[in-house]
Amino acid sequence: MFNKQKAIIIGGGISGKLAARVLSDFFKDVVVIERDTESLGPYPRKGARQGEHLHALLHAGQYGLEELFPGITENFYASGAVKINSTKDLAWFHHGVWKLRYDGGYTTTLQTRPHLEWHIEKYIKKIPNISIYYNHVVKNLLYDEDENRVYGVEIQNNDDTLKTQKADLIVDASGAGSISSSWLEKLGIHIPNEKVEIGLKYVSKSFQLPDNNTRDWMIKIVYPNPPIEKIGGTISKVEDNRYIVTINGYQDAIDEKEAVKNDNGFLELAKGLPKLDIYNEIKDGSPLSKTSVFRVPQIIWKRYDKAKELPNGLLVIGDTVCRIDPVFGQGMSIAILEALALQKIFRGDRDTLQRSIIRFHKKVPQIIAPIWNMVITEDFRYPGISGKKPIGLSIQQWYAKKIFLLSSQNQDIYDSFVKVMNLIQPITILMKPKILTKVLGQIMSKK
Ligand SMILES: Cc1cc2nc3c(=O)[nH]c(=O)nc-3n(C[C@H](O)[C@H](O)[C@H](O)COP(=O)(O)OP(=O)(O)OC[C@H]3O[C@@H](n4cnc5c(N)ncnc54)[C@H](O)[C@@H]3O)c2cc1C
Repeated sequence: MFNKQKAIIIGGGISGKLAARVLSDFFKDVVVIERDTESLGPYPRKGARQGEHLHALLHAGQYGLEELFPGITENFYASGAVKINSTKDLAWFHHGVWKLRYDGGYTTTLQTRPHLEWHIEKYIKKIPNISIYYNHVVKNLLYDEDENRVYGVEIQNNDDTLKTQKADLIVDASGAGSISSSWLEKLGIHIPNEKVEIGLKYVSKSFQLPDNNTRDWMIKIVYPNPPIEKIGGTISKVEDNRYIVTINGYQDAIDEKEAVKNDNGFLELAKGLPKLDIYNEIKDGSPLSKTSVFRVPQIIWKRYDKAKELPNGLLVIGDTVCRIDPVFGQGMSIAILEALALQKIFRGDRDTLQRSIIRFHKKVPQIIAPIWNMVITEDFRYPGISGKKPIGLSIQQWYAKKIFLLSSQNQDIYDSFVKVMNLIQPITILMKPKILTKVLGQIMSKK
């Protein structure tokens, strides 16, 4: 294991905090530089505006967090997160049918994103060799041309003065707006990317709901049936006995100006969902927040792994590399899987720091590619969405649709689908002979 002095992490969001946790085992000092002020509780913050919208934590993310921060799941529940049975307490209307409901033996944790992030931050703050500089913005990377190495960062303090800090490793975890790719382009290093224009908008609001003994779900998803329906929504119980409602629409189908005008604007939007279930729940509820909007005009995967020669000393992680379609709730879990991969590579390596960085950048696409493929297969159901289509798209879409529909009738198939959706099994399990036979059997029975 290399014995290095200092790592600097740009951005103290989810992936910045996870990277700090991992690197604290390998560096004497780990410094996280975060432009936001310190959160003193589970509250949304300016630097991660998406935190005002529903954030699902998939099983892969849940297990990974527990591995990195032992005891965190129980801590979530102790401060109000909601523990649910993943298949029994989820009511999911998907492609025109309701999924089966049964006890599959899995649990999911429902909570707001600020609540989740606040718990991670509490762990990070207890690690003695991690320091977090709030209200500090990284403005530039410092580069040594002779060594082809990023050796530090230029930071703007809250009093607007600039200072520099040097380190052996600079991690860019500053998210989708990161400066790294444009900075590298200026250096003459092109970062190829894959982009899909989805025109997605999120509109969310929190509610207190009246007590109702007949409410038999903890989270209810009304997913649109593409290509005709473009707007879907989710209502989820979270900490403090609140419910978050998130409504999302592809291809600019949501008129957010109307939705944010007043509480009624949001109700009207919910009324336009493919099912009235969510509207019926919130029409007698009390709004607890303003209506928040977040736009994701495009999703993008920056292929740092394909860049000709990245400078030494720079590592990229999280949304800095890939902002994926958030509707499928995978972004945080990808960050967690990446952090675990980083840990494994750094633990196993008896090599130089630079070789470990290269190894990590090669590992990242193995994590992202199957998820990216799964997501864009769904996004491309909408004609007019532009971007590079995967090979065999129409067959993949056809087969996936069969799986979606059979998940309303067949427990084995839904169970496998749940494992794939939660990133704990590869998509290939949905092509096992047992499932293929069921899909083909259904086609034959319709002839
Ligand atoms: C609307 C929406 C809904 C989502 N829903 C889900 C979901 O249900 N489940 C899920 O798993 N994921 C979801 N995601 C994805 C998830 O939010 C991200 O994948 C995750 O936050 C990635 O974290 P990150 O740390 O890489 O980036 P970010 O969370 O964006 O954090 C970047 C951090 O860097 C800081 N920063 C930026 N620039 C600088 C700078 N120059 N200097 C210092 N600090 C800087 C920012 O203040 C911020 O704290 C959703 C995303 C969106 C947009």
